[in-house]
Amino acid sequence: MSESIPHLQLPDEEAVSCSNCAACCCQLEVMLITDTGVPKRYIDTDDWGGEVMLRLDDGWCAALDRNTMRCTIYEVRPLICREFETASPECLDERKGMSSIYR
Ligand code: SF4
Ligand code: SF4
Repeated sequence: MSESIPHLQLPDEEAVSCSNCAACCCQLEVMLITDTGVPKRYIDTDDWGGEVMLRLDDGWCAALDRNTMRCTIYEVRPLICREFETASPECLDERKGMSSIYR
């Protein structure tokens, strides 16, 4: 017998993919803790003088392509972005928070 599926149930781990996500994690604050070569135009300074990825008024990182929802600086993206794992608890949290705007 199959179980009923809650209205807002998220996809199981196998189904979690950046290609079915609205780049949810690219709205988080991303501190630049190492120099990976991020272009200066995408770098902002936080209230404590630290370097962070610039976010635009829509909330997403300035380096995100708004049409494809892909990172335009993937090869030189910050360390924090490299370490953010798809389907990790943090990823699932971000996806949950953005479930109303899935594309
Ligand atoms: S890592 Fe997770 S939250 Fe980030 S774009 Fe991929 S699926 Fe979305
Ligand atoms: S640098 Fe790329 S991966 Fe990192 S938050 Fe910005 S768009 Fe997302």
